[in-house]
Amino acid sequence: MTKDKPLIWLGAILMISLLFAGCVAPTPEEITKPKTAIEEEREYLVEQVGNLAVYRIYADGFEDLSIEDQLLAYWLTQAAIAGRDIFYHQMHSQGLDIRRVLEGVLSAPEGIEEGLLQEIKHYAYRVWDSSSNYDQRTFKKFLPEFTYDELVRAAHRANENDGAGFELKEGEALDELLDGVRKAMFDPGFDAYLKNQEAEDIVKESAANFYDRGVTENKVVRFYDSGKGKNPLNSRVARKWFRLEEQVYKVGGLYSEEIEQIIYYLEKAKPYCPENQAECLDLLIEYYRSGDLVDFEKFNIAWVQTNPEVDFINGFIEVYQDPLGLKGSWEGLVNFINKEKTETVQKIIDEVQYYEDSMPWKSDYKKVWKEKPVAKSVSVVSEIGDAATCCVIGINLPNSQKIREEYGSKSIALDNVVEDLDRGKQDAYGVQVLEEFALPDEWEAASKWVSQADWVALNFHEIIGHGSGKASESLAKDPSFYIKGYYNTLEETRAELVALYFLPDDKTIELGLLPSKDAAWAYYRDYARSDLQQLRRFETGNVIGEAHNQATHLIVQYLISKGEVEVKQIDGKHYYVVKDPVRMREALGELLAEVQAVKSEGSYEGAKHLVETYGKYLDEDLRDEVIERYSNIEIPKYSVVVMPWLVPTHENGRVVDVSIDSNESYMEQQLRYSRYN
Ligand SMILES: [Zn+2]
Repeated sequence: MTKDKPLIWLGAILMISLLFAGCVAPTPEEITKPKTAIEEEREYLVEQVGNLAVYRIYADGFEDLSIEDQLLAYWLTQAAIAGRDIFYHQMHSQGLDIRRVLEGVLSAPEGIEEGLLQEIKHYAYRVWDSSSNYDQRTFKKFLPEFTYDELVRAAHRANENDGAGFELKEGEALDELLDGVRKAMFDPGFDAYLKNQEAEDIVKESAANFYDRGVTENKVVRFYDSGKGKNPLNSRVARKWFRLEEQVYKVGGLYSEEIEQIIYYLEKAKPYCPENQAECLDLLIEYYRSGDLVDFEKFNIAWVQTNPEVDFINGFIEVYQDPLGLKGSWEGLVNFINKEKTETVQKIIDEVQYYEDSMPWKSDYKKVWKEKPVAKSVSVVSEIGDAATCCVIGINLPNSQKIREEYGSKSIALDNVVEDLDRGKQDAYGVQVLEEFALPDEWEAASKWVSQADWVALNFHEIIGHGSGKASESLAKDPSFYIKGYYNTLEETRAELVALYFLPDDKTIELGLLPSKDAAWAYYRDYARSDLQQLRRFETGNVIGEAHNQATHLIVQYLISKGEVEVKQIDGKHYYVVKDPVRMREALGELLAEVQAVKSEGSYEGAKHLVETYGKYLDEDLRDEVIERYSNIEIPKYSVVVMPWLVPTHENGRVVDVSIDSNESYMEQQLRYSRYN
């Protein structure tokens, strides 16, 4: 338990960041879900350390995979773990040293006083979860609740027990290691933000390790505009004398050792792949060797055209962590298909053209779906690096617009992560939150339908949301080029609106995705509430920073301005109440038409107006009230997940079988990942 915040007095909860690699569907958070007998027995909320909760993710169905697929999942997981350190190093130049200190202490903690040990554990859990000491929602450094002297004391005690966990390098003294991380861990002013888009120089003031210290935004922009930089996605920019140069991530370049390990395991995986997937792995290996982005494109084209039982992501993919949005963060993810859910998703895909034609926007902006998207529901068995920053719930890749237009994209819903997290949170506090923020006449419908509607909304958001629409013929470049800093929020708003708009559509009911319009209306009410509830995440200031949070705020504040969502005050508490869901849908359609026009025409001013008017600023008094209301509910402020462990069976030095273990603790899992190297 943290010193100044006993559980009962918790402040705002920082819930699962519903981060999609490529996008997120903000989903309502408090859901009741019927459980099967097995699920009743299970623990989803497995551990609490102060205000941090650990939720367990299961991988049902893994046992039913063929032995080849199980072995494939195992080796791809090894290839994912092999890249784990890269992401730590990308986040901060001292990230790996901080991790060594914490793991050294936690590997041999005997004799460290309990209170201090709990504080260190709490901090370590957050570091593992973020692969850094930066909060993944605010991008701000978080500080330990213990002092440097206490850390030194604990570290020396652990070192006397068994110093192996510190992995001291040759000639490196423990005190040297500790002194080296002191500023990075304890000085709030030093490298305060991983990224801060409000900073005068967003590159210079970013703590992330994509650019050498002191390199300015101006210089990087000129470097790439002039065409001198060839590898914006897969390199670090260093300063050499007065010039900039790229350190390319590849064999023989930066992170060579890790990348060679990754390749080693990809080679191990290959014999268990279907043929076209093996070709895919070859192309990925080629790219890791050359560092050439043309090779990456070839890989992506092959990858998007495969649809195997066991699939993976492995590489420098998303650019959210870089203030300039150029540098790919390393991630590894392995999943297998959930057939039943995927069939349901297929129903949406079969009707993409219907939904496109029914969009409430101008026909000039409607597209013809030449290639239908590949979309599936999967169970994740491992997520490492950027994919593990709690919590990715869906993926839409590749990011290259060119490949997407020509070859389509893969939409992957990470169902076990979403569902098991929901169950864990439901166990922990679901009913209390519903009763605090919903009016009594909304409770029953919310419990009955929101969970199912949420699942449909998530898939709509990804497939017919992000996938829909087209730019005006007059636009020479991608809309994002013109809309710049407002683009992400605009696009998330658009995808959300599409999902909301089509939930109550006749086709949606006809396909059996939802039992009735009432289910959609329950979701509307929940969605309105979710904007009020999310205020707890922004403890200081009046700015909502993250694109998906802004999108929800934009939509609900727009609805309030139109009178479709009413702000009621009852006994001094505020409630967001949907007046008439049918009329609310009309208003959503009007906003959607406007948002699409702004995107299609690449209107910077239009996007700016929407985001600045509705999406960006919060009411501080209301926020304080929401935080106060949450403080009366015992809610863990932070969430982390522990994934299943794929345990190999060796025979004559070969891995011949894999079983799944769901008993490992979060700490055991993280230490196992680290020891692996
Ligand atoms: Zn999205």
